[in-house]
Amino acid sequence: TSTVRRISSGQVITKVEDVVKELIENSIDAESTSIEVKLVGDGLTSITVKDNGVGILECDRPAMALRNHTSKLYDFEGLSRVETYGFRGEALNSICSVTESTQITTKTENDPVAILYMLDHSGKILHAKSSGSSPGTTVTAIKLFSNVPVRRQVAKKISSSIGKNVQNLLITYALAHPHIRFSLKHTYENNSKLKFNEGNWIQPAMKNTMDAVIKLFGNELANEVQFGVWSSKSEDIENGGNDNNTEEQYIITLEAILPNPDAVPHIIFKNGKTFIYVNNRPVTTVRGEIKNLVSMVKSVYNVIACHNGWTGNTKTPFMWINIKLPTWVYDVNVEPNKNVALFHHGERLIEAVSNLLEMFYDLNNQ
Ligand code: ADP
Ligand code: MG
Repeated sequence: TSTVRRISSGQVITKVEDVVKELIENSIDAESTSIEVKLVGDGLTSITVKDNGVGILECDRPAMALRNHTSKLYDFEGLSRVETYGFRGEALNSICSVTESTQITTKTENDPVAILYMLDHSGKILHAKSSGSSPGTTVTAIKLFSNVPVRRQVAKKISSSIGKNVQNLLITYALAHPHIRFSLKHTYENNSKLKFNEGNWIQPAMKNTMDAVIKLFGNELANEVQFGVWSSKSEDIENGGNDNNTEEQYIITLEAILPNPDAVPHIIFKNGKTFIYVNNRPVTTVRGEIKNLVSMVKSVYNVIACHNGWTGNTKTPFMWINIKLPTWVYDVNVEPNKNVALFHHGERLIEAVSNLLEMFYDLNNQ
């Protein structure tokens, strides 16, 4: 079908982090409240992501890891209104194709037992057996790139940074989903026997993103930033996502944690991390409008810093920004990793966000 052709641009798994990202996105899509990641041997022996989400329906299982199978998208129209992280049905299939084997254990709330499925390189089920009873889904990718020697070599070379990178990845998602508990275990094992524990890390479930920021970066940073939500209505914009191409308005909301202009900055520059999301989707490839957005926040903040006499701070301050807008206003189907958001009315988006930013700082100057 045209849906298949449109989305078959090819998922590329080039490193351990890509596997973790795809699996935790699936877990979040499955409404999990706890996601446990385990890396054995820098992820090259195995990568396991265990969640307590809704599980995979029995009818979906035979095809779950086949190319372009997804339970999240039903027709071509659906491509322009993607609410879940996944919609292409490529990740599990791609992971199967670059591992020695991939196992999926899953149980929905109606199943009496969990079933473990062994998958082959094409994503077909080799065999299945009952296994344990906790609801949710666990995916284990065994011996990543065992059939792609060049990628395995590269992954080995950069393996010393894997723990940190995966932790940062989990932090990025935790800051968009503070209600989910994330954990990371990083070990070296021999025949499932622990040889060495590289470290455990846990981000507990939090009430909101600000609490998650405090937990992750400490109170000092939290004292220098503040959380706010501002909304505005767009002008009439052509909605190419519906059948009639009508002109419509939409609500754009900016959720942000940005430097508090009343606090003298000490920590925000040391923690000059930038977290940008569109509808909770991390936009890690900063380009186009998003790039403009980041420099806009920087320059707005610099004006305030200058005004308050805090000169010499040209570094990037901490910023966390989540732009909420209807999915028809942008497209994430640009690159396989879906980390790029293409806005259909970029200039107007920037204008709207700029107004919202002014509100953020005006509110504080009163
Ligand atoms: P996509 O996420 O684009 O749908 P994937 O290849 O990542 O494609 O996953 C294929 C399908 O497998 C999903 O549509 C979903 O039905 C099921 N699935 C994968 N992981 C999980 C999970 N952790 N919990 C529930 N269902 C899952
Ligand atoms: Mg997916």
